[in-house]
Amino acid sequence: MTAEYPADAPASEKLFERAMAIVPGGVNSPVRAFKSVGGTPRFMLRGEGPWLYDADGRRYVDLVCSWGPLIHGHAHPTIVEAVREAAGRGTSFGTPTPGEVELAEEIVERTAVDQVRLVSSGTEATMSAIRLARGFTGRTKVIKFAGCYHGHVDGLLAAAGSGVATLAIPDSPGVTGATASETIVVPYNDLDAVAEALAAQDIAAIITEAAAGNMGVIAPAKGFNEGLARLAHRHGALLIMDEVMTGFRVSRAGWHGLEPVDADLWTFGKVMGGGLPAAAFGGREEIMSRLAPAGPVYQAGTLSGNPLACAAGLASLRLATDATYARLDDTAARVSALATEALTAAGVPHHLSSAGNMFSIFFVEGPVPDYTVAKRQNVAAFAAFFHSMLAQGVYLPPSAFEAWFVSTAINDEAMDRIAAALPIAARAAAAAK
Ligand SMILES: *Cc1c(COP(=O)(O)O)cnc(C)c1O
Repeated sequence: MTAEYPADAPASEKLFERAMAIVPGGVNSPVRAFKSVGGTPRFMLRGEGPWLYDADGRRYVDLVCSWGPLIHGHAHPTIVEAVREAAGRGTSFGTPTPGEVELAEEIVERTAVDQVRLVSSGTEATMSAIRLARGFTGRTKVIKFAGCYHGHVDGLLAAAGSGVATLAIPDSPGVTGATASETIVVPYNDLDAVAEALAAQDIAAIITEAAAGNMGVIAPAKGFNEGLARLAHRHGALLIMDEVMTGFRVSRAGWHGLEPVDADLWTFGKVMGGGLPAAAFGGREEIMSRLAPAGPVYQAGTLSGNPLACAAGLASLRLATDATYARLDDTAARVSALATEALTAAGVPHHLSSAGNMFSIFFVEGPVPDYTVAKRQNVAAFAAFFHSMLAQGVYLPPSAFEAWFVSTAINDEAMDRIAAALPIAARAAAAAK
């Protein structure tokens, strides 16, 4: 039986009205808005396993998973208990705590980094990694790729993905011309453009998503990441591998577990916080030891390594075994196959694009190698598809430019609901074009 929810959502609408009066756009992060698909964002009251429950008493299979962190689904008992226990001991001390050491050890054990610094958001991680790369190399300029998103750092907002792509914001006001001129934007998957930029200027670092996931999912072409490392090192620049989205999601080591690349710094976030604010950046000791107080590059945070966040992150990582990743891979393969079958049957031009267990459906004929092609999507068809899925109790990212995220909590009941909803949504998309 497919649930059919009405298009209006009175309780969410009332909350949104209150929010709109006092919070810009009614949301505390633009990606939560329904601006590009229309309608009112749903206010969620709770989550359990694969399900989200909204203020109108409706239930949705969650394919956003807090934009990536929740690989074990909502309110996993082990994670909830770890947070409850930590909270009972006190929420923050402003001193070192054992949990920070344990979480850092877990990250070092799983990944290629020798040393790690804990922060509270992915934005902080990339911002700090760039400062460190500049401090280490004594250079200024950074290369980033069009459509990649690395948080809302001033210098990294140029041609950014995520909400910047969804809202089609060309250049954010508030970023100074001086800052913008320190970022060189080149097309994703284009090593020639990178080589050209490196030859023309002194570059401190190249920053890339280990696999692009913020303009929709676009895997790095074969040899692309490796080529970045080779080119960076030939020119005395560092390679920063942004694994905030891929880290601990696509394998126990993140993208590095699927494709080891000789990068210099890595950034992590999302999954490593287990749904609480925790992120990190790390690399080899030679570079990391330049950070204060060991070295002169300053970086700090009142709530960095917060005990609750460390407890949630550590519990989440310890739960994430090989079996977890096998299940995530399998679930992603099943959901993406169902989606592409339904869209094909309905005659909707689309392209399934995946990188490990991250995937997205581009509403344009493939292949989609970069942001230029991603932007050719039929956004109206996506909006119709999205709202049909929502009305049938499946919560997709409210943007054609975002990855779909699965969790191990997707059970038969949740999968049946997805399978029943997709053909109807695909026909709605076909009717919209
Ligand atoms: C989400 C994300 C960020 C930013 O993380 P926040 O915690 O939202 O600041 C940075 N890089 C990538 C690749 C991301 O997906």
